[in-house]
Amino acid sequence: MRSVRVFRRLLGVEHTVIESVELIKDEELSDEEVITASVRPVASRALRCSRCERRCPYRDAGDGRRRWRTLDLGTVKAYLEADAPRVQCPEHGVVVAAVPWARPKARHTHAFEDTCAWLAAHSAFTVVAAMLRITWRSVAGIVTRVVADLAGKRDRLDGLRKIGIDEIAHRKGHRYLTVVVDHETGRLVWAAPGRDTDTLLKFFDDLGPERSAALTHVSADGAEWIHAAVKERAPQAVIALDPFHVVAWATKALDEVRRGIWNKLRWEGKNSYAASVKGTRWVLLKNLLDLTGEQKTTLASISKTNKTLYRAYLLKEQLRYVFEAKGEEGRRLLAGWLAWAKRSRIPEFSKLAKTIEKYRPLIWNTLDHNLSNARVEATNTHLRVLTRRAYGFHSPEALIAMAMLTRGGLCPPLPGRAA
Ligand SMILES: [Zn+2]
Repeated sequence: MRSVRVFRRLLGVEHTVIESVELIKDEELSDEEVITASVRPVASRALRCSRCERRCPYRDAGDGRRRWRTLDLGTVKAYLEADAPRVQCPEHGVVVAAVPWARPKARHTHAFEDTCAWLAAHSAFTVVAAMLRITWRSVAGIVTRVVADLAGKRDRLDGLRKIGIDEIAHRKGHRYLTVVVDHETGRLVWAAPGRDTDTLLKFFDDLGPERSAALTHVSADGAEWIHAAVKERAPQAVIALDPFHVVAWATKALDEVRRGIWNKLRWEGKNSYAASVKGTRWVLLKNLLDLTGEQKTTLASISKTNKTLYRAYLLKEQLRYVFEAKGEEGRRLLAGWLAWAKRSRIPEFSKLAKTIEKYRPLIWNTLDHNLSNARVEATNTHLRVLTRRAYGFHSPEALIAMAMLTRGGLCPPLPGRAA
């Protein structure tokens, strides 16, 4: 009897009767020795619908015995094995009965899946797959199931006031996700494939009219399709531009200036000068205060040898400063910046000035309402990294699940530990 208690703890199962535990050679795993525990649900958990948990009449034996991989016991793979009868649910029809140790349709136990999801959120995917001895595909399937399970247990759209709406490219920029982030927590609260008004209207459908009416602020990039959906469903919300998008426009303009100069120098055969301009890229993209001593020296030499490039850098930095200043001061600096950019005689920045002029009212909203740029930007950056890292997650659904796991607060705790 004592060993049954020990095994119940070791296997991490509840509401489960352990009938026997054996070390057997597994034919499917080329005779690898594995632990196999024969189990069944305790009487009160037996014969329940796997969709609604309701107790239902026995229908038939289904496909007979099934097994679920659980966490290794030490170095040995471990499985639970049990009957998988079908029940007749008055609401859901004929379904396989629920088991207390695993999610419906899962081939791994709760303990195994939660550990896998936790690891996927906290370490490299190669580590997860190697450590748990499963494939990429399995990791993606498990993450998707765990997230769907946790998402069904809480409403992440409750209490939203200030949100950021963004689009994230994946599949090398050929596909997009629309994502919604809560400004107050930085959490990803909603995501769906696509980037158009119809996609975003689905978010407002999920939110419902009452909660849409409670939104006070919506931040986004300049995309018209976002503004259109917000104006239609949450007309009371103040629309603002996320500072990091605006600064990214300036960074892009600066990079175009640098590349233009580089190309011109190469055209003129000034190759060593061209190479030195090429090498300035990372210095120019960084913020002034983040530069190392050596990078400051590079910047100082740019200021002497390449005045256009240096002015472009200052324009980028000054625009960033507009958002640090905020409020009245920010408005004043923005007006100054626009005047400077327009007469800069740098076409990339004159063009940017026109764009910014167009969005000036929205940028004023940003400056006046002091939305927490940092958290939304952090989530945005994280998702961009994720789309490059998540090789195994080809479908948008799997990618969204992974995003919800890491940024949506839907990561389960490691099993067997107090929360
Ligand atoms: Zn049911």
